[in-house]
Amino acid sequence: MTEIKLETTEAAPLPPELESAFREAYEIGSAVTGTGRVADYIPELAKADRRAFGIAMLDGQGRSLCLGDAETRFSIQSVCKVIILAVSLKAKGQRETFSHVMMEPSGDAFDSILKLDTRSNRPFNPLINAGAIQLVSTLVEDFSFEQLMDEARTLCMDERICLNEAVYRSEFESGNRNRAIAYLLKSKGVLQGDPEKTADLYFKLCSLSVTAKSLAALGLVIANGGVDPFRGEQLIAREHVRILKSLMFTCGLYDYSGKFGVRVGVPAKSGVGGGLLCAARGPMGIGLYGPALDEFGNSVAGVTAMEHLSRQLNLHVFDY
Ligand code: GLN
Repeated sequence: MTEIKLETTEAAPLPPELESAFREAYEIGSAVTGTGRVADYIPELAKADRRAFGIAMLDGQGRSLCLGDAETRFSIQSVCKVIILAVSLKAKGQRETFSHVMMEPSGDAFDSILKLDTRSNRPFNPLINAGAIQLVSTLVEDFSFEQLMDEARTLCMDERICLNEAVYRSEFESGNRNRAIAYLLKSKGVLQGDPEKTADLYFKLCSLSVTAKSLAALGLVIANGGVDPFRGEQLIAREHVRILKSLMFTCGLYDYSGKFGVRVGVPAKSGVGGGLLCAARGPMGIGLYGPALDEFGNSVAGVTAMEHLSRQLNLHVFDY
């Protein structure tokens, strides 16, 4: 695969107001990152530097900006659920995908089992653990981990994405709740395949090693209607992009999605590794990394920085 360099020399310079909005957002995010807590329920994640913070921006004209820890590798965690959904839509189509999961916000924590047992057999949406695990179970026989990693590399324009073995081992050893979800789905006859194989592939996908820059590139592809603007290749079908954006908007930040929708108003997806993927108008992809999390499992610095960027750059989807 040819590597796409994000810093293109031919790209026009960034307008000063854009650059200063990003610099301010970086300062504001850096100031609050210490108030969050690094995830420790997966022991390996606890090793992250809680003060780390980075922002990467990439737009459709190839203009880019990297601030702070924008090139630090971290595990993609729940942001991989966007890739899992994109692959499921491509491989199985919309009808089959949504015969396995619903498209409703759950109002519960990302790893909750509650409603799955009491309210519905089908997981509420593909962006919570139960939904992603269910979709992975439908892909596990058709795709190897390497093939799915290749999808991630293409969508993120980052051939250096690889498996973080230490995070994977840690997830594997501590992932009993996710195994419980897989077995609960199996007991209900929803999960068709082997729960262990499914959980294993899910752990590996969560352990893919990315940077804020990789998330910015994925954000750009989604913001640009599924087309890689540099190669002109349609990577995600347009009607699937609509689904991704809608679910990212309504469910992308777990039970903080409503507030994020009001305050920021940009389709986004967070992960407990500290990553935040945003698909903004322009088209513009924004990737953020700040491993100190709030009570919902979202990056404190990432969310705060996005609030500032949305205000300064008029990014709210209902303002344009
Ligand atoms: N691997 C994590 C888990 O399954 C992903 C969760 C997240 O990022 N919110 O618990």
